[in-house]
This record gives sequence, C-alpha cells and structure tokens, in this order.
Amino acid sequence: MKVKVFTIFPEIFPGFLGYSLTGRALNEGKWSIETVNIRDYATDKHGSVDDTPCGGGAGMIMRADILGKAIKANYQDGRIIYMSPRGRPLTQSKAHELSKEENLTIICGRFEGIDERIIEEYGIEEISIGDYILTGGEQAALIMMDAIIRLLPGVLGNEASLSDESFENILLEHPQYTRPIDWEGRKVPEILMSGHHQNIAKWRLEQAEKITKERRPDLYQKYLDLKKV
Ligand code: SAH
Repeated sequence: MKVKVFTIFPEIFPGFLGYSLTGRALNEGKWSIETVNIRDYATDKHGSVDDTPCGGGAGMIMRADILGKAIKANYQDGRIIYMSPRGRPLTQSKAHELSKEENLTIICGRFEGIDERIIEEYGIEEISIGDYILTGGEQAALIMMDAIIRLLPGVLGNEASLSDESFENILLEHPQYTRPIDWEGRKVPEILMSGHHQNIAKWRLEQAEKITKERRPDLYQKYLDLKKV
C-alpha cells in the first residue's frame, strides 16, 4: 500500500509507525509513505496556509487555493481521505475496507480545518477517529494508518490472532491471562487450565458477552440483532 499524506508537519511521519510490527512492515516494503508539505505551496514569504473564516468566528481555516495546488501537483490514484471530527467514524470494518486499497491519500487539517470547496472538488471522504477534538489531523492519520497497516497481508505474525480480537466479531475481547498462574494470590481462572477447548471457548464467549453488555450496550444490541438472523 502506498500512502501519501498532506500535512504542514511532515516530520511527524512515520512517527510511531516506524516501530514494532508497522515499522518492520515499512522496512520490508509492505507499505510506503510519502509526505507532501502543504507549506511548499504557500505564496507569501511567511509560508502561510490559512486565513480567517468567511462570515466570522474563531480560529483560522486552511486555504483552498494553497491546499488545492498541493493536491493537484501530487495527485495519486485512489481514495482521498480528510481526517475530520465531522467524518464517518473509523471502525474495524472501515479499516478492513481501506486495507484493500493500493493507494491511500490522507489530508491532515490544522487550525479550524480546511475550506469546504476542497472536499467538494476532490470528492473527499471524511473520517473521524472519535467524538473529541484533536489539534491536528496528523495524530488521527497515524492512528487510522496503524489500524489499516496491521491488517495488510503478512504484517501480523499470527493471522489467527486477528479473528478473536475485540470488534472482529462485534463483541469486545474476553479477559486474557498468562504466567505466573498464581500472582500474589490472584489465580488464573481454573477453566483456562483445564485443557478442555470447548468449555474454554464457551467461557470466553460468555465473558465477552458480559463485558460488551456492560461497557458497550450499543455493540451488544448489534450482536443480539445479528444473532437473530
Ligand atoms: N473546527 C473543527 C475541528 C478542527 S480540529 C470542527 O469543529 O469540526 C483541527 C484538525 O484536527 C481537523 O482539521 C482534523 O484534521 C483534525 N481532527 C481533530 N479531531 C479529529 C478527530 N476526532 N478525528 C479526525 N481528525 C480530527
């Protein structure tokens, strides 16, 4: 997968994606990243990319002409995504969908965001990483990329570890334990030591259902609805 990121802080990339599984996959060429510094397309000597909002209000907006020039000069095929709190939420199924793309272009906003006309002109898809406001799209882009890259073929050592995870089958994950079996008087649930795979699977499902029901009633309802069909 080829990722192209439009940003005013190219030095943020690849950031933490240079470590661990995503870092190894980057070195192995399973994905690549190119950054475009939007400031290189500024026209004044200060390199300004933003201006005050039309109609008034607080903060600054990234200008359509400058960002537009940057996009035009560096256009690559495939989907363009703008990281934005107004976007559709990033979910595990969205990450799966995006992991199938050859090219991904990501625009990182700063200040109060970007001029709407850019979104219209390039048919840009907005994606949010959650219902809170960050200072910049770079953080959101790195998180979204992390979720996508670990799904690329060969990035996770053990593909089976994927299918059990939270969200992969709607439910949140069951509790996990490892050695020592007795840690300061707290013991690993006996059933996990029984070697009885069916009972273990049943226990894990019950735990996952209980945790999901308590913490994420929205997901739990979705799970029940899906079980009915
Ligand atoms: N005024 C905007 C928020 C701007 S925050 C609004 O109310 O919608 C500045 C930049 O940070 C945004 O342009 C976006 O790229 C990024 N950003 C902030 N919160 C985000 C989130 N939850 N998901 C994705 N990107 C986000």
